[in-house]
This record gives sequence, C-alpha cells and structure tokens, in this order.
Amino acid sequence: MPNRNLNLILLGPPGSGKGTQGERLQEDLELPYYATGDILRAAVKDATEVGLAAREYMDRGDLVPDDVIIGLIAERLESGEADRGFILDGFPRTVPQAEALDAKLSEIGRQLTAVILIDASDEEIVRRLSGRRVSSNGGYVYHVEFNPPKVEGICDVDDSELIVRDDDKPEVVRHRLEQYHEKTAPLVDYYSRQALLNRVDGSRDPDQVGEAVRSLISTFSLEEGP
Ligand code: AMP
Repeated sequence: MPNRNLNLILLGPPGSGKGTQGERLQEDLELPYYATGDILRAAVKDATEVGLAAREYMDRGDLVPDDVIIGLIAERLESGEADRGFILDGFPRTVPQAEALDAKLSEIGRQLTAVILIDASDEEIVRRLSGRRVSSNGGYVYHVEFNPPKVEGICDVDDSELIVRDDDKPEVVRHRLEQYHEKTAPLVDYYSRQALLNRVDGSRDPDQVGEAVRSLISTFSLEEGP
C-alpha cells in the first residue's frame, strides 16, 4: 500500500511564520493542524492540569517538559482524526520529542512525509515578535508595523483590546531564541540525516513564503501518487 497520508512538520524559530503558514495549509489541505503553543495556551486559559503544569515554563520562555507535550500529541495521533495526515507546528522541539514522535508513528504504521524548515535570522525574529499584538482572547494576531489593526490597540474582528503576549516581551524573546538554538536547532541535522528536511526562506513576506511552501508540498504529493 502506498503511503497516501501527508504527515508534515513545520520547523523553525519562534516568530518565523510557522503559524501563519500552518493555518493556510490547514485550509488548503483540509488536514488537522496541531500547534502545541496554541494547545498549551488554551490549556492555561482553561486552567487544566496540563495548563497549570505548563504555565510557569511558558511565562519564562522555557520549554515545557517533554513528557507533557509528547502525551498531548500522542493522544491526537491515536484519536483517528489525523488518519489522513497532519500538520505539526512547534512540535517536536527537542531531539527526545522527535524520537518519541518517530516511535509513535512507527507504532501506528505511519511515517513522516516531510519537514519544512521556515527559517529567519534572530534579528528578524526579535523585530517581528516585539511588534506582535494579539486580541485579548488570543485568537487574532497583528503587528504594529507589518499588519496593523484599523484602530490602534483594538482588534478589527472582535473589538477586544490588543495585548502583548507575556512571552513576546523582549527579555523572554531572547530566552526563547536561546532555547531554540540550544534545543530545537539540532533537529535540522536530525531530519537532514533522514532526508526529510526542506528549507524555506521565512524572511520574505507571508505570500511569498506561502507560495514556496505550496510548491514544495505539491512535489511531496506527486511522490505519493497511486
Ligand atoms: P509557541 O507559540 O510555539 O512559540 O509556543 C509557546 C510556548 O509554549 C513555548 O515557549 C514553550 O514554553 C511552550 N511549547 C510549545 N510547544 C512546545 C514543545 N513542543 N515543547 C516544549 N514546550 C513547548
């Protein structure tokens, strides 16, 4: 049986545009999109057990312990909703997470199709994250320079106040970048060795990045043909 699932990982530093591209891909491909940062923020908001355990790490810009996050993803892969494929954003973020994902996929007879690295320099990341604003309910994202709301400080969609995410504050952004270089960047080698890595320049505008991602994905789909 050919592998006809599209099992994708979006890799890259915080603020490189994985979320923007992930949401577009979710619509285009009609696949479940699992952004672990969003899943954790929702858990914090609902004060679930996972949210309570994760909050202090997130506020500091540290990574949440591997076992917490691996459990969240394993549940979703086992649920059946990802049987046609999935888009992962923000997971895996460490080598043990990547190994756990490999183990889970082979247990359910699946394999990764590709890893798309959306890359951008630290300088660009700091510029993007320090200008990012989110609606108070967290659902809508703006940027003071690149994507400003119609009325300063107010969400175009739900009129809520726009706020800075706690972990977008400058000192926390610097720490998140350190964590990325120390713990997540080794995954570039990890997936290169498995010949799964595809690099996209994330410093361009979101439409250009989206175009590059879509044309890459069309080549994966062809390889999977009947
Ligand atoms: P993000 O929105 O992807 O930048 O994630 C926000 C925060 O959630 C991160 O700074 C981490 O504290 C936590 N987080 C998200 N995904 C993971 C993961 N795969 N492993 C550990 N921590 C994570």
